[in-house]
Amino acid sequence: MNLKKETDIKKKYQEIINKECTCSICGSKLEFSHFIDYGFKKVKESAVCNECGVKFQIRDYSLN
Ligand SMILES: [Zn+2]
Repeated sequence: MNLKKETDIKKKYQEIINKECTCSICGSKLEFSHFIDYGFKKVKESAVCNECGVKFQIRDYSLN
C-alpha cells in the first residue's frame, strides 16, 4: 500500500474517533468497549457516557 495514502487514512480515522469520543448530550468523554460475538462472527463497538449513563452503539463489524 502507498505509505502516504495509509497515513491519510489513519488521520481520517483519528478524526472520526475524536468526534465520537465525546457524549453528544453532555459533552463528557466516552468510555469505549468492544464485544466480540463469535457465534455471529461480529464485533460490536459501543461507548458509554459515565456522566449521564447513555450508551451509544458505534458500529458493528463483520468478521467474515
Ligand atoms: Zn453524557
